[in-house]
Amino acid sequence: MTDTHCHLGSSRFTDEELPALIENAREAGVKRLITLATGEDDLERNLAIAGCFPEVHACIGIHPCDVHTCRDDFETLLEPHLSNPKVAALGETGLDYYHPAPEGWSEEDYHARQRDFLRRHFELASKAQLNVVIHTRDRKGCASLDDALEIYADYQDSVRAVFHCFPGPYAAAQKVLMNEGYLSFTGIVTFKNARDAVDAARKVPLERLMVETDSPYLAPVPHRGKRCEPAYVRETAKAIAEARGMDFEDFIAATEQVVGEFFRC
Ligand SMILES: [Zn+2]
Repeated sequence: MTDTHCHLGSSRFTDEELPALIENAREAGVKRLITLATGEDDLERNLAIAGCFPEVHACIGIHPCDVHTCRDDFETLLEPHLSNPKVAALGETGLDYYHPAPEGWSEEDYHARQRDFLRRHFELASKAQLNVVIHTRDRKGCASLDDALEIYADYQDSVRAVFHCFPGPYAAAQKVLMNEGYLSFTGIVTFKNARDAVDAARKVPLERLMVETDSPYLAPVPHRGKRCEPAYVRETAKAIAEARGMDFEDFIAATEQVVGEFFRC
């Protein structure tokens, strides 16, 4: 099984504990981990971790909440690594209309910079023949998802995108599916109040579905509230397999196939 989205480069994981975290994952059957960079600060660390551990692969990108701290020409940061065989995709990029704009920025300018960065991640991905991992989040409604889909539409012929940490509802998933996109689900599907996420995870075709932890965030039940780690992706996979009425091993085999097609790993 693969944890398709974790942040091993987060300051909440120290270098000393990484071998144990990866061993915990292996014991839980999680044999492949994809760690995502979010900005200038954690790019090198994520690449170093992927370089150190055979089971870890990295995605490189600028998170929408980091666009204001990143240099304008972020391509110069990412380009040298695109041919690194441990780089599995571009990301984490996307649009975040949930968090307030940072000091000195209007919401309008902040979101415009996010859209510009997202488009340029697609440009890079298209050139490098890699796919893209996308974050979208709204206070209410789905403007960030809609705007991201509009940008994605211009690159659909050459690049695939996964919309990660998908919260539902299924109607929103359908928009992604119609655009040839993928959906990835976190431990949210194990939360009692997450009916929309479970419903979407139950209905999305298997060939477009992946599972992830987004660790250190969003630990699934029974670890909810604790720091999340890649081993816990097993709980998320179990919950979705159960909701779909599927044998666990069959579910894993199907998602592994998707991971192999989507990521260069
Ligand atoms: Zn993330």
